[in-house]
Amino acid sequence: MATAEFQLIQRHFAALTAPHADLLLGIGDDAALLRGDVDQAWVWSMDTLVEGVHFAAGADPAALGHKALAVNLSDLAAMGATPVAALLSLTLPEADAAWCAAFAEGFGALAEGHHIALAGGDTTRGPLSISVTVLGRVPAAEALCRDAARVGDLVAVTGPLGDAALALRLGPEAPTALATALHRPVPHLEAGSLLRGLAHAAIDVSDGLMADLQHVCTASGVGAMIRADCLPRSAAFSALSPRDGLQLQAGGGDDYVLCVTVPPDHFQTAQRRLQSAGLALHVIGRIVAGAEARLCTAEGHAVVLDRGGFDHFSEATADV
Ligand code: ADP
Ligand code: MG
Repeated sequence: MATAEFQLIQRHFAALTAPHADLLLGIGDDAALLRGDVDQAWVWSMDTLVEGVHFAAGADPAALGHKALAVNLSDLAAMGATPVAALLSLTLPEADAAWCAAFAEGFGALAEGHHIALAGGDTTRGPLSISVTVLGRVPAAEALCRDAARVGDLVAVTGPLGDAALALRLGPEAPTALATALHRPVPHLEAGSLLRGLAHAAIDVSDGLMADLQHVCTASGVGAMIRADCLPRSAAFSALSPRDGLQLQAGGGDDYVLCVTVPPDHFQTAQRRLQSAGLALHVIGRIVAGAEARLCTAEGHAVVLDRGGFDHFSEATADV
């Protein structure tokens, strides 16, 4: 979510309804927390994919089914939550049985892999758009919120950055591994739940590392210093100029890895816990006093990216 989107949400929706005793966390994080049994919270999130904005006309319906659920699960992962169920709202230009079968296969395979029930939804006719709501659960005290980063925390990510942005640029020429990162992202649910009780803050990288980390900094009232040379990258990046690669890694979106802040005391435990599950935790920087998420070289020189994250309502993208 970028500035113009943020302003639109703040102005019209953030205070639309009165506070509710059972709503532990409302608008503004990766997902909302609703009080559950004693020490459990229900976790809700919703994301929409629109043809021509999030995917091109003619996109593979099986990949769309996967991705529509995956991007939602990624928001649950960023709260440290375990998914339970989903609602699916489909707006389709026509009742195309082959398209629906392929979409259902992609959606269903990912849902089954995480034991998620498709609990309902809605189907209407119109320009192709897919909206998914997911419901999960987390121990309320261990939810990974955006406002919990503290000065001195290490900033770490749970996977490589920039693969999806590079695949988008390369188009059909993209090597399979990169294309898979773009079209069938894997939500880092296991990493999120293993980091409960160890990480302070978390966000999933959907709009671009620096733009998303800025949300954590703003919510927590801190700054961040990120080392450009520490961003985990795939082999394909060695063919790009360092500047070009960095732009994709730190500014490109659709990564769906988690960016977490971990107090130094907990870092080894967190990294071991993830490693023994075959997962990764790469340190990329530190939380510092201030208000901005900044990128710097190994020598400490500031690096400025061309532009922040994707913003649906900024001037440049107002016509999408
Ligand atoms: P993310 O990029 O993590 O998916 P979003 O940018 O979609 O997050 O949303 C940021 C926050 O704003 C979330 O808490 C979300 O629930 C809330 N939000 C977004 N759009 C609306 C809306 N139309 N009405 C109410 N809340 C919204
Ligand atoms: Mg998110």
